[in-house]
Amino acid sequence: MRRMTSPTGARVVESSSQRIDEHLVLFNVAVRAGRVTFPSANCWVLHDGIEAAVIDAGNGDDVSHEARRAFFAALTGMHGLRVRTVALTHHHFDHASGTGRLGALLDAEVAINALDEVLLHTPFDREDLVFAGDPEATAHFRTIAEASYAAQVDRPLLDGDTFRVGGLTVRAVHTPGHTAGHTCYFVEETRLLFTGDNAQGGTSTAIDPPPRGDMQAFIDSLERMRALGATRFAPGHSRGEGGPMIDDPDAKIADLLTRIAARAQQILDLVRRGPTTDEALFRAMYTGVSPSLRGAAFGQVRSHLARLADRGEVTVEVDGNMWRVRA
Ligand SMILES: [Zn+2]
Repeated sequence: MRRMTSPTGARVVESSSQRIDEHLVLFNVAVRAGRVTFPSANCWVLHDGIEAAVIDAGNGDDVSHEARRAFFAALTGMHGLRVRTVALTHHHFDHASGTGRLGALLDAEVAINALDEVLLHTPFDREDLVFAGDPEATAHFRTIAEASYAAQVDRPLLDGDTFRVGGLTVRAVHTPGHTAGHTCYFVEETRLLFTGDNAQGGTSTAIDPPPRGDMQAFIDSLERMRALGATRFAPGHSRGEGGPMIDDPDAKIADLLTRIAARAQQILDLVRRGPTTDEALFRAMYTGVSPSLRGAAFGQVRSHLARLADRGEVTVEVDGNMWRVRA
């Protein structure tokens, strides 16, 4: 592995490429800045003959980009591959902020769902707060955010749009919930589904409360993914055991739906004991959660509450920063 450092002291802490099968290669890089590790999402190369497409770019800072440049130089040089499309599953920085530079490097068309194209270019209001107290991480995060806002999109996608990769047909499947325009990519001939963050190896998906996320839309998207009859999932992140692929899509979807139903039931059981708040529910439901996951866990409580309120199963009253909840 080549050691790269940037002026802010950011450096590669992990970089790997892996050939999955005759059509698929995975690249991954994680960069550390200050006290924070910034993992890029899985960067998938789908290829057939000499044509290729990339699903998700990764982070757009110099160090991540340089690692990706070296990977693509080796891959395209070795196999004479021509990457025509960089397609994004959604606008989040770890998937999309590297797109502008990667698209330019490969001279490829950049594609993303039209809703997430707007979100890709919408400044994130808490940039300075995310890594407060860690100036190197904050500076690194800002370069990633700016790369994201500057990324040019060539092709806004709608549900059902397709692109070709050699003899393969890739179909955009709109699967909102994690973001408004989240899109999975289905390879018609091989029945492989690129799932973005909707199904991840070794973990379940965090859904922000509205307006950023939508729990009911996410549930509907999981059903939609199940109905495709994919034989394998290529997830946006592969944490945990069992390798980078998800080999039993039905079991994965069933597991995600079961976890969501269990959380919703847990909230209903607590709320039926008497009036409460989002904060009290969070404390009751996520006792051992690590500090780095508190924000995401609290968001889960609110996204469940918003869905249950929409269904008429609870009543939520917003009181300043607090949500008051009753049955
Ligand atoms: Zn995401």
